[in-house]
Amino acid sequence: MKLSYSFYDLKRKYPFTISGHTFITDTTIFVKIEHEGFTGYGESAPGYYFDETIEDFTGYLDKLDFEQFDNPLAMDDILDYCARIADGKLTSARAAIDIALHDLYGKIIHKPSYTIYNVDPATMPETTFTIGIDKPEIIRKKVLEVSGFKRLKIKLGGPNDKEIVETIRSVTDLPITVDANQGWKDRNEALDMIHWLNERNTIFIEQPMPVENWDDNAWVTENSPLPTVGDEAILTINDVPKARGVYSGVNIKLVKCGGIREGYKIVQKARELGLKLMIGCMGEASVGILGAATIAPLCDWVDLDSTWLFTNNPYEHPELVDGIIRLSSEPGLGLKEL
Ligand code: MG
Repeated sequence: MKLSYSFYDLKRKYPFTISGHTFITDTTIFVKIEHEGFTGYGESAPGYYFDETIEDFTGYLDKLDFEQFDNPLAMDDILDYCARIADGKLTSARAAIDIALHDLYGKIIHKPSYTIYNVDPATMPETTFTIGIDKPEIIRKKVLEVSGFKRLKIKLGGPNDKEIVETIRSVTDLPITVDANQGWKDRNEALDMIHWLNERNTIFIEQPMPVENWDDNAWVTENSPLPTVGDEAILTINDVPKARGVYSGVNIKLVKCGGIREGYKIVQKARELGLKLMIGCMGEASVGILGAATIAPLCDWVDLDSTWLFTNNPYEHPELVDGIIRLSSEPGLGLKEL
């Protein structure tokens, strides 16, 4: 088997601001794994809130020896080797390899990758389209431009939260989900805001308070009329048990947990613990989004929209029907070149 990779700068249609960060360009990495005429495609981007850089990616991928493998269907062996070389870390780089292996696997067995986990595409929830923090006139423009999505995800966690929501509500009644990205610092104010949002057609609240404030997040969840979801607090499967009693659910991201295989394990663990499940993304193009989409029908809430926020996705966007990503019946991930 042969592994290769390349970097690509995805350009944001609008500068994307969330509590504490603004993104204009996102560097993503495309991974290719080839075997006997079949090619699997993967993608990932280093997460901004965990310690991985482009240099870490390159150093790690250069270290991997894929020539030693000649059976791509032995995915567990290959992924265990990748985790070992990364010393259990570098989840985002490993996610790119994992996605490529799932694509390759599907192509070799001539079935969609989601069949590996017996996923039923008919249970795919609607996906949200994210509106970053911005001035009211830009937010209004962004919301009016949204087409094809039935739910919006709103980034809050700053001083103008109510103004942002009122601006959105002046142009649309679509249900919203809210991501505070750790931006609410006082638990009473956080809870007041959640009550206010609950009267404005909100589905759930993501990462209400800072990760390290476990007690405050637990208190908010206990008193909240809306479910809460841990995102920055819950990275890998090892973090999932910590969510119980603190959040109503967890947000799976392939770049945080290491890929589809690990994401599937989180689904099982979270269900065992009675937690709700969301699946989200960072700043990936179609490859990363289609990777996450393979297990998205197993989740309650889906937030796989990043590919639509860029102007230069080098692949076709996933198919969107009535606000729902429709999984392709093609072998592999169903990725299409432009
Ligand atoms: Mg989030």
